[in-house]
Amino acid sequence: MDKTTTKTVLAIDIGGTFTKLGLVNREGQILNSKVFNTKAKKPFSQFKEKLGKEIQLLISTLYSPEDLMAIGIGAPNADYKTGEMKYPPNFSWGTTVPVRSAVVSVIDRPVFMTNDANAAALGELYFGAAKGLDHFVVLTLGTGLGSGIIVSGKLLYGHNGMAGELGHVNVVPGGRQCNCGLKGCLETYASVTGIKRTVFDLLAESNAESVLRNYSFKKLTGIAISEAAHQNDVVALEAFDRTARVLGNKMADTVAHLEPEAFILSGGLSQAGDIFLKPLQKYMEDALFSAYKGNVKIILSASASHEAVLGPAALAWQGLEGP
Ligand SMILES: [Zn+2]
Repeated sequence: MDKTTTKTVLAIDIGGTFTKLGLVNREGQILNSKVFNTKAKKPFSQFKEKLGKEIQLLISTLYSPEDLMAIGIGAPNADYKTGEMKYPPNFSWGTTVPVRSAVVSVIDRPVFMTNDANAAALGELYFGAAKGLDHFVVLTLGTGLGSGIIVSGKLLYGHNGMAGELGHVNVVPGGRQCNCGLKGCLETYASVTGIKRTVFDLLAESNAESVLRNYSFKKLTGIAISEAAHQNDVVALEAFDRTARVLGNKMADTVAHLEPEAFILSGGLSQAGDIFLKPLQKYMEDALFSAYKGNVKIILSASASHEAVLGPAALAWQGLEGP
């Protein structure tokens, strides 16, 4: 690994499957990085030990430890005030997980922490598709639906740092069961998991021929649905259309609340391209109040998944410099 003299921050993205670390400079260049298996079902103490070792290894590649200015952490259900993860779903780490203090015990620097979707929004603002925008909403359409809101160039935190949980607004009263305990949440429809559920609804509703009949729910992927749609599979096309309708309608609601310049989409579902984006734009436009029509862009994030550290890196730089 190359030694470097640039001022950097250490960015940590904690996911249910992988934890990614990176040394990132002010220009958003990832100077060095590391990925390890989170093992979210094992005790937190085990993760803490592994994280501490990886942090020290990465810092040892710096020309001087003085070059490390701050640390940014993105994690599910992170509380930016306390530096803890609160009731993180899919982790067996307890109800309150002291992540920030675990990091401070390894290296004494300012540590900033927020939830992964908020961090992603800052990453887009500093280094990504939203450079130069002041009002936008990032939607991460993966296993679930994450969102981060930027208003007047600042992340919208809300009273307890929990603002912008668009994945859990209701789209169908009494609808699909969500992992959060509610029914009919947006993410049960507009996410990779959501479109899989829609595909299985459609397969049950008709006898239409479809390659998607060859898949179990477990084996079906967003990519398989996307490939089928590009081969004009009627079930796959209808699944994208229904998903776009649900999401487009809710995006129009969000426009009425916030009047963003743009939505930035990332995550597996967004990678389907025009087959999803065209109906999405149409359904959003159809549902927009006339004053907003034609004024809201839908932009694809350019970030690849290995760049997940750019979000927490932006959080650390913002923490140092002020918003
Ligand atoms: Zn929910």
